Amino acid sequence: MDGLLTFLGTGTSMGVPTLGCGCPVCTSADPRDRRLRPSILLRWQEQHAGHPGVRERVVVIDTGPDFREQALRNGLTRVDAVFYTHSHADHILGLDDLRPLSFNVYREGGPIPLYAAPETARVLERIYEYTFSPGATYPNRARVQLEPLAERTAVHGVEFLCVPVLHGEMEIAGFRFGRAAYLTDVSAIPESSFALLEGLDHLIVSALRHKPHPSHATVEQAVQWAGRIGARQSWLTHIAHELGHEQTNRDLPGDIRLAYDGLSLPVNLEPAIR
Ligand SMILES: [Zn+2]
Ligand SMILES: [Zn+2]
Repeated sequence: MDGLLTFLGTGTSMGVPTLGCGCPVCTSADPRDRRLRPSILLRWQEQHAGHPGVRERVVVIDTGPDFREQALRNGLTRVDAVFYTHSHADHILGLDDLRPLSFNVYREGGPIPLYAAPETARVLERIYEYTFSPGATYPNRARVQLEPLAERTAVHGVEFLCVPVLHGEMEIAGFRFGRAAYLTDVSAIPESSFALLEGLDHLIVSALRHKPHPSHATVEQAVQWAGRIGARQSWLTHIAHELGHEQTNRDLPGDIRLAYDGLSLPVNLEPAIR
């Protein structure tokens, strides 16, 4: 089964253009230099055994502060599940914008599951207390439900594998689905996680800029991982304003490209072989 992966945003936490900056990338006319906060969308057609017709399924990884704009740009009319990588603002602050979509999904079959590790869930519960508290009575709260993040989670026939990575001192979640993997906000990949990344068609990995940062990989580090993992094609995301699209791509090996907002890739979603 094939799905379609779309980059909803490929920018770093501040987005590009960065507020108040007049650098060549922030003032670039190239639309690929305009980057919303990092997130991806995966869609596929679920076949129903026994009854005719297919149903489009939609999973989002992270709902950052630009989620509403991203949903509009990409014509999102439903979300079947959200996976959270970690609890930083650029990955979670759009959760409340799931509300209108969650009302529709809820009528069909209940709340939208939000898969999150315990530390991430704690932060979500604190920030969105009016949504998650057992006593929440706000009538227009999002119809969502926090679910523990397991090593493997099946969503309407597609398996999502958790791939632990390090973001500075924090252990956060990367994800593999079929022959693609999404690793954002990475500063180190534990040795045990490389085994989960074999046989990929598409590796998406974050690369902030050239200058080192305590909790994000540089382009050089990401290129080294991409070489070791050996996906057919690797894509860099979570990109700061130091990297111009055109110029950076010119300097990268042919099987490694900067991703850009709106880029879509067909992805084979057959379960990862292990
Ligand atoms: Zn981030
Ligand atoms: Zn700038």
